[in-house]
Amino acid sequence: MIWNCKAYPKIRAFLWRTCAQGLASGDNLARRQIPIDSSCRRCGHAFETSDHILLDCPFTRATWFGSNLSFIVPSDELPMLASVLKTWDQIRFPSKKGKAEVLSLFAFICWHLWLACNDLVFNQRVRSPIEVFNRAHQAHFRILQRESSSFSADSPPLGYLKLNCDASYIPSSGSGGFGIVIRNHEGAPIMAYSEPFKASSSLMAEALALRAGMCAILDANLVVFLWNQTAQSWFPS
Ligand SMILES: [Zn+2]
Repeated sequence: MIWNCKAYPKIRAFLWRTCAQGLASGDNLARRQIPIDSSCRRCGHAFETSDHILLDCPFTRATWFGSNLSFIVPSDELPMLASVLKTWDQIRFPSKKGKAEVLSLFAFICWHLWLACNDLVFNQRVRSPIEVFNRAHQAHFRILQRESSSFSADSPPLGYLKLNCDASYIPSSGSGGFGIVIRNHEGAPIMAYSEPFKASSSLMAEALALRAGMCAILDANLVVFLWNQTAQSWFPS
């Protein structure tokens, strides 16, 4: 689920690292015999674990509650990010899109809590919960905006499909590979594959990629309607 979350790759990697207990929190560093104060800089809790930073610290709880998610972190047991994400699919949302957007905002808040923690430790900069969730909201809004604008720019009109094909080429070995993707008007892939090949130039590699894309269209009995030179084409579905 982490890898499908609408967030920057660095944030997805950060969540994965956190669930694998690989975050450089005070507690984790102390366990690796690094001479460091393992307590929380904000509340003095003896063990600054990643789950404490992202869920359990009073500062963090205030951030979650003040955010657009108004999330009240359960206090009956030690909250764990891995458990929250594990049970995510069981939470009911009005729509699939809404569920994805909430998960995305959740990821951004985690990330900004972590940035605020680093700011405190390394720059002695004290941020407020309001600052943290505002920064997370803004970053989340930007990625949603970017996604909707790239969607409208990249998606073909209703009734058309779009072919993208591209190639990579390594001159020293003459080896390369191409990939093709055919998408519908919603931007959803309906066909995609890639193959390795041998070529003698990058131009040849690009040509082979285009050829593979055209063969895929012909094999599927689709007729090219519009073509341009950027290795993209729209055609009637
Ligand atoms: Zn704390």
